[in-house]
Amino acid sequence: MRLQERLDELYAIGGGPGANRVGYTAAEDEAHALAAGWMREAGLEVEVDQHGNLIGRLPGEEPDAPEVWAGSHLDSVPQGGRYDGALGVVAAIEALERLGRRRRTLAAVAFRDEERGCAGSRGLVAGGRLPGAWLELHHEQGPRLALAGAPLGIVTGIVGYKRAVKTFEGRAGHAGTTPMDARDDALVAAAEEILRLRDVARSIEGAVATVGAIEVEPGGTNVIPGLARFSVDVRAPDAERLTRLIEAAGIDGEGRTEPAAMSAEVREALRAELEARGLPVVELASGAGHDAGILAGAGVAAGMLFVRGQNGGVSHSPDELSSDEDVALAVDVLTEALGRLAG
Ligand SMILES: [Zn+2]
Repeated sequence: MRLQERLDELYAIGGGPGANRVGYTAAEDEAHALAAGWMREAGLEVEVDQHGNLIGRLPGEEPDAPEVWAGSHLDSVPQGGRYDGALGVVAAIEALERLGRRRRTLAAVAFRDEERGCAGSRGLVAGGRLPGAWLELHHEQGPRLALAGAPLGIVTGIVGYKRAVKTFEGRAGHAGTTPMDARDDALVAAAEEILRLRDVARSIEGAVATVGAIEVEPGGTNVIPGLARFSVDVRAPDAERLTRLIEAAGIDGEGRTEPAAMSAEVREALRAELEARGLPVVELASGAGHDAGILAGAGVAAGMLFVRGQNGGVSHSPDELSSDEDVALAVDVLTEALGRLAG
């Protein structure tokens, strides 16, 4: 089908292995040029805003009504997957072509440079004209829909997070001559804390905690560590759980990114479409950041539809995969839900 061919064309940009379309590079430009051509073929009015975001509009019968946008991003991580971002953009163009003119103006949108921090959508939010609603179809990037036996899922919100560094000081010493009960080993203390953080996250539904980087000094094979320092990344689906998690993890202080709740109206439109097809209604929080979270934070009624991943839900990898059947179903649900929102 045409949508799969378009995903192949985007995937081929930048050479393999995997998708290689880092934000604001020639490869992302090429992807935007391709998508702009598809938008024009679909009869959309194409605009590129000052941040390079691509917006293809289908004017509605009531031009003053708040616009309804669908889309995602066309940049990728290095050696990324075939679906991440690209699926949401290609599906939005497909949906608008099927829907035709509605009461509210519709637009298919590709935001710039999502992977490195949502530069495009942050730029729009800082000074552009925002839509009334945003709907983003995206690969789940996790295993939960596959485990639930559900092809599609409705996103409840985008997790909030906090990052910190923990440092443990001990006393460096000789690995051979210092008895075990005379040691003050910084890495052993750090290891106990890492296990405690795991248990803290496990005790709060939907929370996660990750220690992904660790440094040990002086760092000798035959030296007891005198200092250990590690990174902590904690995430939770709502503000209350994030607060509990941060307190229990002992990383209070500056620099927390709030969770973004998805709009009840958009979730309801998606739910109605899943129920109309007899599909299981699975609701889940997104553990990854998305443009939808940036828009929601700016007051846009934002929602996301996740499509089930194969291969254990792996993403940011050439092994990222969704079945053609699941993708076709996702495009149908996206289209009809957009129709509900656009009137
Ligand atoms: Zn993405």
